[in-house]
Amino acid sequence: MHRIEDAVSLRKLVRDARCSGRSVGLVPTMGYLHEGHLRLIDEARAGTDFVVMSLFVNPTQFGPQEDLDRYPRDLERDSSLAANRGVDILFSPATSTMYPDGSHGQEVWVDPGRLAHHLDGAARPGHFRGVATVVAKLFNLVQPDRAYFGQKDAQQAIILSRMARDLAYAVEVIVVPTVRAEDGLALSSRNVYLTAEERMQAPVLYRALREARSRIEAGQRDPRELERSIRECIAERAPLARVDFANVADLETLQPAEEQLSRDTLIALAVFFGSTRLIDNQIVRFVDGTPRFS
Ligand code: AMP
Repeated sequence: MHRIEDAVSLRKLVRDARCSGRSVGLVPTMGYLHEGHLRLIDEARAGTDFVVMSLFVNPTQFGPQEDLDRYPRDLERDSSLAANRGVDILFSPATSTMYPDGSHGQEVWVDPGRLAHHLDGAARPGHFRGVATVVAKLFNLVQPDRAYFGQKDAQQAIILSRMARDLAYAVEVIVVPTVRAEDGLALSSRNVYLTAEERMQAPVLYRALREARSRIEAGQRDPRELERSIRECIAERAPLARVDFANVADLETLQPAEEQLSRDTLIALAVFFGSTRLIDNQIVRFVDGTPRFS
């Protein structure tokens, strides 16, 4: 595995791989790798011949009160995990490589449009503009055939798929199912912030989503009623949890779902435990009126 920090070497190595006829996969991450990230590598290896993993804690996607400074980092551990899983290039640029004029000197941005007005975009103003901009830079640097993102960050995957289409990137965006701990908690680098007691209550996000799924299977189609029952489930089971949002949204527009569910739907949750914010989601697709869950 090549460990690269500068853009010139990255471009050269990727060009060499492409010239030798290999397809290129990109796995963008912020590091502190866990099995969710490693599953993205597996998918990239299965779908392409040459895998680039980027590891960059992108300052422009963090709000002023968020955890940029304390975001967990361990480059040596990440490097050995990535190498063992078969990454060809680990790209860990300095901020000055990704933002030549500093993150405050960036003038031209990718505007994710209305898709960023809802859910996490509403809760974290500017977050998806930072995400879309840094991923556009990575797409330009690597020019991958395929790029791999996790369903855990469903709104992010939807925005980036749309960015690839609207900005004519020759990149196929692949969305990989959420990897969970045994008790259902979606793996996240931020889970290390949880106290033992918070960690015990954290699977409530998954439980609440499973309960919503059961209600839909039983015929419930009222989005507000589903949101109410999700909040109730969390309040009952997890006294340490504070719901940031629990929204039933249209999967395509991400706007709040209308009266009775019949279109493809995203149930998205963001919950604070102390200052740690966890997210999870459930996608419901209606095939001939029958709900299918992923
Ligand atoms: P992050 O390092 O948190 O920015 O995540 C990098 C990529 O890994 C994103 O595409 C995430 O959606 C994905 N990811 C994070 N956690 C998981 C998980 N538990 N299962 C699947 N993908 C994940």
